[in-house]
Amino acid sequence: MGDRVFGARVGILGGGQLGLMLGLAGRALGLELSFLDPSAGSPAAAVGELLVADYTDGAALQRLAESDVVTFEFENVPVQAVKALELRGSVFPSSRALEVAQDRLNEKTCFGSLGIATPPFEPVGSWPELAAALSRIGLPAVLKTRRFGYDGKGQAVLRTEAEAKQAFERLGSAPLIVEGFVPFQRELSIVAVRSRSGETACYPLVENHHQGGILRKTLAPAPGVTDALERRASGYIESLLAHLDYVGVLALELFEVDGRLLANEMAPRVHNTGHWTIEGAHVSQFENHLRAILGLPLGSARAIAPTAMLNLIGAAPDARAILAVPDAHLHWYGKEPRPGRKVGHVTVRAPDTTTLTARVAELERIIALA
Ligand code: AMP
Repeated sequence: MGDRVFGARVGILGGGQLGLMLGLAGRALGLELSFLDPSAGSPAAAVGELLVADYTDGAALQRLAESDVVTFEFENVPVQAVKALELRGSVFPSSRALEVAQDRLNEKTCFGSLGIATPPFEPVGSWPELAAALSRIGLPAVLKTRRFGYDGKGQAVLRTEAEAKQAFERLGSAPLIVEGFVPFQRELSIVAVRSRSGETACYPLVENHHQGGILRKTLAPAPGVTDALERRASGYIESLLAHLDYVGVLALELFEVDGRLLANEMAPRVHNTGHWTIEGAHVSQFENHLRAILGLPLGSARAIAPTAMLNLIGAAPDARAILAVPDAHLHWYGKEPRPGRKVGHVTVRAPDTTTLTARVAELERIIALA
């Protein structure tokens, strides 16, 4: 790629809202973008060239391979497509990192090998295997498909043996993993970035609130985090970045239980729990991902103020009412609203956490009216 920044082309597998926000950051840096997505209505079409084709389409992959660097914003892209692109040029993160993150068993095994604590887990291929695993792990437990799960899909909480049987009948046609149910106090995540030169930056731990398996709210930085907990989380993600020789943004989802952190899963891409960084951190996860894959110096990942991010799910809110809340910022992805679909988000900052709590309550009231 040489030293060219202005006019450099970034090829991106996936053209959803993560692609849109990468593109917005990329356009500001003078980059050109090409997106490959099977959907003609992809939000990222607003900020670059959209190739509408299957992820394995030869001509579309050829066009992407003409980019200076290729990345992905969707973790279920076929590893084969990423490997094919790696043969033709620079792809970050690597297919190896993608492969580990796509399979919950590989991912948790990788966590274990690095000393990253997880809930107890076992692979499951049959009902006798599940019954045997449950006799060791105990109930309640959580049964999950190893691959292609997201937003709580492809999983079931098992409270009784009858529920376990039912869940196995529903999910058992795919390879599974069973985990101990974690009675967590809260869900946290950490987003970090590593550049081609090995430079890293970690955003602060954030606190996440889900409903129906879908992220609703992120508080950044997470309130009441001790230095020790912050160091533990950044140590975990730094060890993953180093082990995977990772380039780009990586997210790690964690449970906090009795002062401990247990890793749930990682995402080898920019992450919904990092959207707050656009207005709440010195340099956003989107800009830092692009800086990392282009081999540019990283920007500071520090928070500039207490910040919250609220997802807009399934419906358009009253934009005027949202923008009337002090220091609220509205992001609309240009997607057709459908139940359960993430169609935008709101970020709000405040000078202190008490003011932030009041602003969040006001925004939640406005969003609930949508
Ligand atoms: P995941 O698809 O693994 O991110 O899981 C979706 C959600 O299910 C998480 O955000 C948690 O709220 C919950 N969950 C997943 N695994 C466990 C577990 N082992 N114990 C308790 N809750 C879990």
